[in-house]
Order: sequence, then structure tokens, then C-alpha cells
Amino acid sequence: MSETRVRFAPSPTGYLHMGGARTALFNWLLAKHSGGRFILRIEDTDRKRSTTEFLDAILEDHRWLGLVWDEGPKIGGAAGPYFQSERADTYAPLIQKLLDEGSAYRCFCSPEELDDRRSRSSQKGHDWKYDRKCAALSKEQSAEHDAEGRSSVVRFRIPDGKTSFDDMVLGPVEVDNQELDDLVIARSDGTPTYNFVVVVDDSQMGITHVVRGSDHLSNTPKQILIAKALGTEPPEFGHLPLVFGPDKQVLSKRRGAVAIGEYRRRGYLPEALVNYMALLGWSCGGEQEFFSLDELVAEFDISKVSRKAAAFDPEKLAWMNAQWIKRLSVPERTARVVPFLAAAGLVSDTPDEKKLAELERIVHLIDDRLKTLADIVEHAGFFLAADITFDDIAVEKVLTKRESVNILDGLYGLLSDAPDFESETIEELTRRLAEKRGVGVGKVVRPVRVAVTGKEVSPGIFETLSLLGREKVLARLKAASELASTLTTE
Ligand code: GLU
Repeated sequence: MSETRVRFAPSPTGYLHMGGARTALFNWLLAKHSGGRFILRIEDTDRKRSTTEFLDAILEDHRWLGLVWDEGPKIGGAAGPYFQSERADTYAPLIQKLLDEGSAYRCFCSPEELDDRRSRSSQKGHDWKYDRKCAALSKEQSAEHDAEGRSSVVRFRIPDGKTSFDDMVLGPVEVDNQELDDLVIARSDGTPTYNFVVVVDDSQMGITHVVRGSDHLSNTPKQILIAKALGTEPPEFGHLPLVFGPDKQVLSKRRGAVAIGEYRRRGYLPEALVNYMALLGWSCGGEQEFFSLDELVAEFDISKVSRKAAAFDPEKLAWMNAQWIKRLSVPERTARVVPFLAAAGLVSDTPDEKKLAELERIVHLIDDRLKTLADIVEHAGFFLAADITFDDIAVEKVLTKRESVNILDGLYGLLSDAPDFESETIEELTRRLAEKRGVGVGKVVRPVRVAVTGKEVSPGIFETLSLLGREKVLARLKAASELASTLTTE
């Protein structure tokens, strides 16, 4: 059997979003499952809307998700170029071949004429399809029109009969060719259109399987017929179910679907996105819910992709992300949060060993509280920043109480003289203070927590204090006590 060669063919006219990335993933998995190759082809013929910014973002997103391409931009390959804009020379002779063989013809109908005929046909309640007015022109007549300088497009002559294929997802599909339009394959300026170009590229790149969204299903019979007219074997096709967003609309970049890069910036793990996207339409039939990319490669079977539309649930994705963060070891989790802390100015991009050890202790203490990597800033900010930011409500509720000043001052005294700053020692001294004041330990902890973290919730307070270290703790207790004295209302 020949090697499996698949391609993902994004247009750099926007960012990659969930729907497109899922198509890329399923292609990648299909290739890798059978030891084949994944090709990235950039469909950048819309020069006005294509930008290098979008291209770079698409490439970066693929790398980040782990969908490394075997041929394509930056790395090239034997079937290049991989930018459609650089393949222009290959198309014109093939259009000419179809014209010479009668599989295509020149159409001289002007857009105005077509509009006119289209509206007359729709007034009669008919679906418009090109009425083949120019299909009957002889080669001589065509040449005459050309010589007169009349503008023309090239249309593909849809043959009679039926076109069928065995879709890898949908099963057997058959279309009566009468339903198909003699589509334009070259515009009046000579540039070829999508349906033609894609057939030529797929064939020249040796693509064996085309996996794409079912929004392309209606193009497939046309592409099969064009491939046959060009004398090439069409690839296998698989059409993925569409993905609907929470608004019950098909997810699309035009409708503001969240870009993959945006998930990265929000602190999602690529593992979580890949896992979640794989389950958008695919299941291996068992109970397993968590899959690494390697496990997906082993398990993926395109015939198990559902025909039903998939529903994108951002909450489920967020949950899955938190689960994946939990699964990371502390050193791994620490390494992944560093860029977020660095972006917030809390650590350098490359913390030294001592700092890393401190960060690991913080991450360990924060435990399961991270839902996204970006949450680290909220949870660890007070450990790392020189000054803390007080939460207004916490200050209002806790530091305006008279007893808070006494507690903060009392603990300040005890901790100044503490023999060491281990969490057990701190806990022991805090309990002693609570007993002395005849209150529960929780009462003592409350203002202390606000004093050192600025908030009413934090990881275990004794470990937190220990980790912060005596110097910072004492300074913050003192500052909070001073603040509380100015606010005390009772
Ligand atoms: N550039 C096309 C798209 O983004 C590719 C379609 C195809 O896979 O044939 O929809």
C-alpha cells in the first residue's frame, strides 16, 4: 500500500480556531496512525486578505499543539512549493489541456447577462444553474470571440451520469451530475479557482486522503470529476461533522470563534485542547476520556468519527484544562507557569535555580487551584511581588475591626522571636495567640491572611507564611496593622 499523505490547507486570512484546528488534528492523526505524512499547504491565493501575521500565527499554533508538519512552510519538501501563490505556473497548462480536450469551455456571458438570466429563472421558482449557453460554442466561435477581445471565463463541462464515492466518515455518497453546475475553473483574468487548484495540488502532492469539514461536501463531486478529466486518481475523502458553538451556530472565525493562540494566552494547555478537540466528533468507543497525543495516534480511527454535528462546550474544555494541569508534575507545572509570571513582571524569563526551587514550593502549595496556567498570577502574585494589592472587600470586612490590630501586633511579636520559620512553629505560635485571646484559631488567621496575601482566600496559611519568610511576613503584618489602625471602626 502506498504511504498515506494528508494535507491541511489553511488560508492565512485569519487565525486558526477550534474548527480548523480539529480538521488539522484529525488529518495529522490519520497520517501518524499509519506512519504517513502530514503536509501543510498554505492557500494564500487571496493576496489581499492573506497576511504573514496570520501565517506565522497558524504555524505557531500547529507547533504549540504538537501537530508538526512533515512537509510545508519553513521546511519545504519534495512536493513543494507549499504556498499556493507560488504554484501559479502549474495551473494554466492544465486548464488549457481541459479546453483542448473539450472537458472545459470558454464562457463569454457577462456578469450582467448572467444576473439577468438568474433573476428570470428565480422568478419562475427555478434553482439557478449555469444554462450552458456557451457550452455549445464551437472552438472556432470561441476563438472568434476571443479575437474580438471579449472577456471570458473557463467553465468545467460536467459530464452526464452520476458521481459516487465512499466517504470515510459518511459512507457511500452519490450525486446525480445533473445537480452540478458547470463551474468556473478560471476567472476572466486567467486565475484558477479553488475547486480546480485544489485538485491539481492534491494530485501533484500525492495526497491520498482529504479530510475536511462537511461544509466542503458539495465541492467533492466536482473535484472528483475534475480529477478524472485531468486523468488522475482522486484521493479518498472524509468529511467531518460541523462543530456548533454554544450559540447553536456553526463555529467559524467569521463569527468570532476563539483563536487557538488566544487559548494559549489564557493559559490553556495544548494537551487539553488536543484532547478536547479529538473528542469533538470522535470517540474510541470505550470509557476513556483523557488521551495524550501519543494515545490518540495509537487509537485514532477515522471510521469512528460521528456523522452527527459536534457541540463545542467551553465549560467542558475549561474543566478538561484544569484536569490536565493537575496531571502535570510540580516541576513541569512550574516550568509552564514561568512565562505567565514573567509576563506579569513577577519573575524573569529564565529564573535561576534558587528562584525555580522557590517557585516549585509555591506551585506545590497552590496545589489544585490552577484552572489555567494564567491563574498563577492571581495565586502566586503575593508571594513574588514586593508589595501586595489589597482586595477592597477583604480590607473592609476584616481590617476595619479593632481586634485585627491586636491580633496582627500580637503575632508580629511572637513571630519576631520565633526560633525558626517552619510552618509547624508558626502554627504553634498562632494557636498560642488564639488561646491567650480566648478565640478560635480561625479568628486569628483571618486578619493575618488579609495582611500577608491581600485576600480572604489563600493556600494553607502556615505554609504560606513559612514560604514567604520572616522578613516579608513581619513587614506585611506591620503595614497591615498600621493600615487597620487608621480604619478601625469598632
Ligand atoms: N483552504 C480551504 C479551506 O480553508 C481548504 C479546503 C480543502 O480542504 O479542500 O476551507
